[in-house]
Amino acid sequence: MIDRETAKKEVEESCGKGWLTLVEILYDNIPTEVSITEIFQKYGKLEIRYEGESKHFEELARNLSYISEKICEICGKSGGYSIIDGWETTLCDFHFNTSKAKKKYRKQE
Ligand SMILES: [Zn+2]
Repeated sequence: MIDRETAKKEVEESCGKGWLTLVEILYDNIPTEVSITEIFQKYGKLEIRYEGESKHFEELARNLSYISEKICEICGKSGGYSIIDGWETTLCDFHFNTSKAKKKYRKQE
């Protein structure tokens, strides 16, 4: 079980502050039968792993993961799928343009 503060710390250290609101929403809605086991960035999305059964929570976790694909993981502004030196991420225009990576790619929307 990862508690709220640990989850926020891990997400902030691995991505940035951009998705902390999503983590808050997740933790505000955990049913008693569910416990979070892992929360991390994968393929530019927030990946949430947990134990326990809850249809409602399953949908919430899926929705938050989907929303994370549209939110810059560094600052929380509107973002899009980006590849920075081979690392898949979600960045806003500012953080994409100011990244010092040698190779950058952004999906055109
Ligand atoms: Zn940003």
